[in-house]
Amino acid sequence: MIIRDKFYIDGAWVAPAGTGTLEVIDASTEEVMGSVPAGTEADADRAVAAAARAFETWGLTGAEERRALLVKLRDGLAKRVDELGEIMAHEVGMPLTMSKNIQAGLPLVSLENFIKILGDYRFEERIGNSLVVKEPVGVVAAITPWNYPLHQIMAKLCPALAAGCTLIVKPSEVAPLAAFVLAEEVDRAGFPPGVFNLITGLGPVVGEALARHPQVDMVSFTGSTRAGKRVAELAAQTVKKVALELGGKSASIILDDADLEDAVRGTVNDCYFNSGQTCSAHTRMLVPRAAYERAAKKAREVAESFTLGPCTDPKAKLGPLISKTQQERVRGYIRKGIEEGAELITGGPDQPENLPVGYFIKPTVFGKVDSKMTIAQEEIFGPVLSIIPYDSEEDAIRIANDTPYGLSGGVWSGSEDHARAVARRIRSGQVVINGGDFNMMAPFGGYKQSGHGREHGPYALDEYLQTKALQM
Ligand code: NAD
Repeated sequence: MIIRDKFYIDGAWVAPAGTGTLEVIDASTEEVMGSVPAGTEADADRAVAAAARAFETWGLTGAEERRALLVKLRDGLAKRVDELGEIMAHEVGMPLTMSKNIQAGLPLVSLENFIKILGDYRFEERIGNSLVVKEPVGVVAAITPWNYPLHQIMAKLCPALAAGCTLIVKPSEVAPLAAFVLAEEVDRAGFPPGVFNLITGLGPVVGEALARHPQVDMVSFTGSTRAGKRVAELAAQTVKKVALELGGKSASIILDDADLEDAVRGTVNDCYFNSGQTCSAHTRMLVPRAAYERAAKKAREVAESFTLGPCTDPKAKLGPLISKTQQERVRGYIRKGIEEGAELITGGPDQPENLPVGYFIKPTVFGKVDSKMTIAQEEIFGPVLSIIPYDSEEDAIRIANDTPYGLSGGVWSGSEDHARAVARRIRSGQVVINGGDFNMMAPFGGYKQSGHGREHGPYALDEYLQTKALQM
């Protein structure tokens, strides 16, 4: 059991204002694995006051000073990769080895990248008779989801602290424990008091208190489109800057000159990564109608090759979903797909017979999906792939753009030029060509209702800076 009963505010571990607690559940065993305080508005106020005080001096520090502290934080966190991987494997359900590599590994890549970026970044430039200076935005509230708990925090912490902003982190109440390890390492690294603050609690309580707080200059939110809209509404009252990283319903377009087997394998693997709980997952697979039967057969074969198991099972490739709520939500979508007439190729809404405990969903593939169906329009956030046949390339592009979302997408083709031409017509912040690797230096973010603002790499640093022109 991991019991956390204090917040990290103003460089110290302090008692919360209230007495409420929130339980953290192990996704594989359904047992309570820990608890954190349920923060209140008073805690948010205290954390914001500390961050606002700290900004007065931290905002004036030089890039070298900030960089040196990020180096210390990286060194500290690197020593705790195993512990972090284990905590998040149990919280999220991701198989342990994968969790160590991804959940605990990506945060280190973020730190490494910003240590590098800070070394090269130009905070000033001359334009004619003006000196243009980039200055930190100020006090930032970071509100994050549960699917990649620490990675999502670091996607905000690294650019915010690198820019000279101060930070209040409010992690997801469903997977909050890694953030406490991070706070310990921030403390050990020696960041000045108030530069980083950690509070936990429910979104509508602590999240909303931060979003509306007059002394918060920017809210950087990652989560559902529903909550993101609420955050933007509250933030608008004080005209604060808002960055939103929201949901997705990304399409993988398999063109008729692609290696079909490769493309189907790549799409199914992408869709099921982290049990489908990835905002940029390619959950719609668009195939030429003439290739439908072959694509469906291959998708079934790949889906059925995924071994399900608890996070501690070394043979498991797919863990459970994070919570009962998510499991029920995903089951609801699978039932809806069947009701609306999609062909259930494999999987389904029932608990796998061999795994009665844990929030498991069988790897599911729907075929002959129409773009108007609920399963083709709404984010499911589970291992559920929809195959949509198309009649022409124009038709494929139209279907790919036919949702309110625009986070990612994929194009598969035998010709890179052909793939690039189609990729340019997809209205989304990223497009993966022939399964290209995730690049943590490249900008990540949404078009349309997937949000605005970019995370990762130098574009992310710009989000946390504002520009001032000095005329001479
Ligand atoms: P969520 O919106 O329920 O919660 C995300 C965070 O927002 C949590 O910290 C939560 O406490 C807080 N929150 C909830 N309601 C709030 C409110 N009214 N005001 C302020 N804060 C509030 O999302 P989730 O279930 O944790 O995560 C899943 C969602 O996140 C999916 O839709 C997924 O696509 C999205 N997501 C997006 C990205 C991206 O980069 N675009 C990355 C990961 C997850």
